[in-house]
Amino acid sequence: MKFSIPILVLCTILSSCGVKQDVSMQGTENKKKPKNIILLIGDGTGLSQVSASHFYNEEPSNYDKFPVIGLIKTSSAEELITDSAAGATAFASGIKTYNGAIGVTTDTTAVETIIEQVSKRGLSTGLVATSSITHATPACFYAHVPQRKMAEEIAVFLVESDVDFFAGGGLNYFAKRADNRNLIAELEEKGFAIDTSNLSSIPTTSKQGFLLANDGMPKILDGRGDFLPEATRLALEQLSKNEEGFFLMIEGSQVDWGGHANDADYLISELIDFDKTIGVALDFAKTNGETLVVATADHETGGFTLGREGDNYKKIKPIFSTNGHSATMVPVFAEGPGSYLFGGVYENTGIFTKMIQLLSK
Ligand code: MG
Ligand code: ZN
Repeated sequence: MKFSIPILVLCTILSSCGVKQDVSMQGTENKKKPKNIILLIGDGTGLSQVSASHFYNEEPSNYDKFPVIGLIKTSSAEELITDSAAGATAFASGIKTYNGAIGVTTDTTAVETIIEQVSKRGLSTGLVATSSITHATPACFYAHVPQRKMAEEIAVFLVESDVDFFAGGGLNYFAKRADNRNLIAELEEKGFAIDTSNLSSIPTTSKQGFLLANDGMPKILDGRGDFLPEATRLALEQLSKNEEGFFLMIEGSQVDWGGHANDADYLISELIDFDKTIGVALDFAKTNGETLVVATADHETGGFTLGREGDNYKKIKPIFSTNGHSATMVPVFAEGPGSYLFGGVYENTGIFTKMIQLLSK
């Protein structure tokens, strides 16, 4: 016993020294400013959804790779429970607004988005989603309309925006419009190569757009395949050609739709696809060395949890408590230069503030 105490103490000192050294090295590394930011939004992805990635994914979860974790409060300006429009406006423009608002304040004044700000400074920008590209979450990064339902108006904003790469669904809002405008032709006039059939044909122009469904993309369960990770790979390949840097937003749109449907198989399959996409972003960032990766959610959907099966604590079962969104805080995961800023508990608008702080010269 006499000897065991000093050995224990020594072990504790050694191991704590080891940990301290690791943390401080990581600290200096992540306090540099990033050249590029990848923001991944899992729509409706609360902590139980993230946990599902551990219990139902055959692969190790990419969420485990993040060294910095935070929590955000998601209420909108007028509602305790946000929708995706107010949630994404907070991320894209740093303001709290009303549910349904796309890039506008509570009095419907347009407010500049991160894409508008950084593209003026010469950065390339991109958007990838499994919804239509005019759906609330991606729309908030380039459009300014008082109501999220105004998909045809939102599509016009995309044509007029400085976005360099986009991939998702929503072809109808560009090609089958009430005003008969052909926005595909207008995008092509602006230097875009537009593909409406598949991701594999890589155009050589500087701007690329993929519109691969009339409205939302198919579910994973209906054969969407690797669209999200592959579109992310393409976006990174294209945007990283810019020496000035880039901002890329990627949305796992349908985790939310699985939550609304109270359909655990739908939710979990979309979550695993989003997790895989996080892996693509983290792999790129690791090789690149100048890229911050932030993965978060606009809100939780479904009041989803993992409860016991009957009385059995050895078995879990997905349980939903609402078919809408919930007010619970959602996690933020960060890795790379600047990631240290994303720890702690803060408002969703902080995501914007921190990203802009890091991209300012
Ligand atoms: Mg969304
Ligand atoms: Zn929703």
